[in-house]
Amino acid sequence: MILGEDKSKFPSGNALFINLKENKILIDTNPSEKRINSFLKNELNLSSADITDVILSHTHLDHGRGLAAIFEKSNAMIHAHPDTLKRCEKKARIGLYAGIQKEQIHHFEAFGSSIGFKDRSYPYNRKHPLKSNQTIQLGEISIYTHETNAHCLHMLDYEIRNDKFDLIFSCDYDFTPVPWYGVPQRGYAVQRFKDATKELVHRKVQSIISSHRLNPIPLTEQQSELEKYLQTINERTKRAINMIPSRTPIKLQDISNFVYPIEKMAGAYSEDYIICAQTWDYWLLLAHLEEAWQRSKVKCIESDGDLFLERCIEADQYLTEEVEHLLVNGWAEETLQQKMPFHLPANSVWKKL
Ligand SMILES: [Zn+2]
Repeated sequence: MILGEDKSKFPSGNALFINLKENKILIDTNPSEKRINSFLKNELNLSSADITDVILSHTHLDHGRGLAAIFEKSNAMIHAHPDTLKRCEKKARIGLYAGIQKEQIHHFEAFGSSIGFKDRSYPYNRKHPLKSNQTIQLGEISIYTHETNAHCLHMLDYEIRNDKFDLIFSCDYDFTPVPWYGVPQRGYAVQRFKDATKELVHRKVQSIISSHRLNPIPLTEQQSELEKYLQTINERTKRAINMIPSRTPIKLQDISNFVYPIEKMAGAYSEDYIICAQTWDYWLLLAHLEEAWQRSKVKCIESDGDLFLERCIEADQYLTEEVEHLLVNGWAEETLQQKMPFHLPANSVWKKL
């Protein structure tokens, strides 16, 4: 494991390096080329120029930040889902996909640049598209690809095996106190995220290594870590419900500091990052309010022009089945073309039931 700075907390994160006879494999490029290079030098007497294969889980900024610099030094082959291969070339595509509004996308791009993410196109003969449920052989190990997509569409986790061990690099199913999901997905995705995490644990590998946690999770601890993680997610829904006053309906944008401590971030982080974090905080809140609506604890009474909320208000219930097509697939396609199909319904009004 190559740990990120700041205890691997976002926007930092871990990478995994696999040192084989011929193949020098790097999974995710977050800790930055500089940090990866000095790790390789100190621990293995190698350098980032020796990397033969870069494997990307998905293209959120905190996973692909070191990609351009590593590619330039090493000329590695990039293996990833085709969607990831397209997104990793442009910060704007990643930002829109992560729910940043079009008029704020320059803040996201500035934030990305500040952590070392570079826009760059990669030649087609250095890109290897991966499907889900595929096994690739690289030197002495095999890597099984598996899509766990409730973090974002087309995120692949990687199960790495040889005859002695197996482990999963679970990326953003990270078993930390700050699970992240909900963009671009909505309320339904909270349940899906929980189901996908359970599924990871049910695969019973010797070790799970994640992007934002400092220590691997051995098989004997996976069940208890899962329970803790699910509890954190459930508590968020309770917290969202409690943030709606009992008698007076409230606008989404009038609730802040849901997951991100926005007020405490001023001064410690760049303004660009704080603007992005505020947007993500609203999306996470929306996902949990929608989950609370499914349980008839709250409901939306004004949609702020959000077509999906409008239909739910009309039906007077949360329309779970419609979420996937309308909000997930549509969002993914449009953001690839650098369009923003939906606006954050910041002025939607919520009421306790
Ligand atoms: Zn991510």
